[in-house]
Amino acid sequence: MIPSEARFWASARKPEEVPLARTPEVAFAGRSNVGKSSVINMLCGRRNLARTGRRPGATRGLIFYSLQDRLGFVDLPGYGYARRSATERAAWKTLVDSYLDGRQALAGVAVLVDLRRGVESEEAELVRFLGERGLPWLWVFTKSDKVPRSKRQARVREVLAGAGSGQAVVCSVPEGEGADDLWRWIEEQSGVRRRK
Ligand code: GDP
Repeated sequence: MIPSEARFWASARKPEEVPLARTPEVAFAGRSNVGKSSVINMLCGRRNLARTGRRPGATRGLIFYSLQDRLGFVDLPGYGYARRSATERAAWKTLVDSYLDGRQALAGVAVLVDLRRGVESEEAELVRFLGERGLPWLWVFTKSDKVPRSKRQARVREVLAGAGSGQAVVCSVPEGEGADDLWRWIEEQSGVRRRK
């Protein structure tokens, strides 16, 4: 993908603000701070397309990026942030669920999980939701560099075993790990080939 041609396209804080899809889309879901923005930047070869390190839980909606008007990336808002009120959490869930439920263009969902934390109930619930709707999804275990190299493989096996099902790509942004594997999955799901 030609990096400079990945750009911000739209954001939506309410279901009615979600733009009509123009291309196949791949969504990235995960808790605040799991590394979604960093992974999106890594895939696009950009440092600051998606803004990293925002205050966890800072209010924001779904964020849509367009890659050469051929493919969309969608950053789904972080969830599982305890300090939000129940009302805010419910509104967020409605937004995300309505997007996931109604989006014909959605080719797949990358579910990001911090390799150190493993899969928790929110992520397990999300993949159940996706499975029920027949939406392809993939685990992305982030921040693998935070686990000592000698223990990584065992930790990946352990998290996968706990997760019960699914394939995983292991990512480290500082080490550049996982980008090619993730791109391969995105290409398979979306049918859109990356231009290098
Ligand atoms: P988001 O809230 O899910 O979009 O997460 P961000 O991409 O903003 O990342 C949260 C924090 O984790 C930032 O300080 C990032 O620099 C850091 N981070 C993200 N990915 C990695 C990674 O692969 N390795 C390490 N060590 N830090 C990472």
